[in-house]
Amino acid sequence: MSRIAFIGLGNMGMPMAINLKKAGHEVKAFDTVAAAMETAKAEGMNPAASAVEAVDDAEIIVTMLPNGPIVLKVFEEIVPVAAKGAVIIDCSTIDVASAKQAHAMAEAAGLLPLDAPVSGGTAGAVAGTLTFMIGGSNEAFRKATPVLDIMGGRLVHCGEGGSGQSAKICNNMLLAISMIGACEAFALAEKIGLSAEAAFDVISTSSGFCWSVNKYCPVPGIGPESPADNGYKPGFAAELMFKDLGLSQQAAEDAGQATPMGAHAMRLYETFLAEGGAGKDFSGIIEYLKNSARSEAS
Ligand code: NAD
Repeated sequence: MSRIAFIGLGNMGMPMAINLKKAGHEVKAFDTVAAAMETAKAEGMNPAASAVEAVDDAEIIVTMLPNGPIVLKVFEEIVPVAAKGAVIIDCSTIDVASAKQAHAMAEAAGLLPLDAPVSGGTAGAVAGTLTFMIGGSNEAFRKATPVLDIMGGRLVHCGEGGSGQSAKICNNMLLAISMIGACEAFALAEKIGLSAEAAFDVISTSSGFCWSVNKYCPVPGIGPESPADNGYKPGFAAELMFKDLGLSQQAAEDAGQATPMGAHAMRLYETFLAEGGAGKDFSGIIEYLKNSARSEAS
């Protein structure tokens, strides 16, 4: 049994913390929202009055927060008071530069930091089957593994600090591009008289196959069940995809790397969000593409 501090009990953090508690660990939890603290208490966690109080004598600290500035603000509070040698795992999806800053801050204070963003969504968080993309030292990775194994189905140690975030944003940039591509193919198929069934049967077994078509088809009633079959209820919200595209474009800007398709995908998601896509799954962009005149969305 480890003493674990868990900070950030939102859609993802709460089920992750519940799984740690259910596995027999002592979980001291903190969130700024009172209702989350009530749930944490009801789930048998020890509620802390602040992030500082949560980390007190913790051996493992997990943060699951909205963005880079908030992660850095929380790190500034907790890093100076955390026990030396504690493992500090940030599971939030944040920009690579902030992740590296968080690593530097924690290392300077004698902590063992990891950036460990996840994929798998809230369903994966509840089921304990998240994929963790991890950056940090071998020692931190080894010490964190038993705890990450409870929350995750697959752990990938990507390299040094920040490389977990790098992996996450590269994957999600490609996912956005491939989803838009899949949506374009199905929209065009419909317009030129090819049934979605036939398009799916061919593409899913031909060179166009990809996760966006085969596993998460944006057309209702085609392929395995997906948000398209549920009125495009997320799933993975278009807002979160837009956020991740912003992180990829920031990293591309910092590195001086051309990512024209990533940049275009970000613009398309921005327009989709402004024109009815807010609150919808990211695959719902097919509706925007189908309703756009050829000159509008190019
Ligand atoms: P969320 O907004 O539901 O949860 C964030 C929680 O952090 C909230 O409960 C909020 O009150 C709390 N918080 C904010 N500031 C705080 C502070 N200073 N101290 C303590 N708590 C604070 O978000 P989420 O959906 O749980 O996502 C968390 C992270 O995981 C994000 O970075 C997101 O991009 C990433 N992510 C989300 C999904 C998903 O499907 N929701 C999937 C993969 C990754």
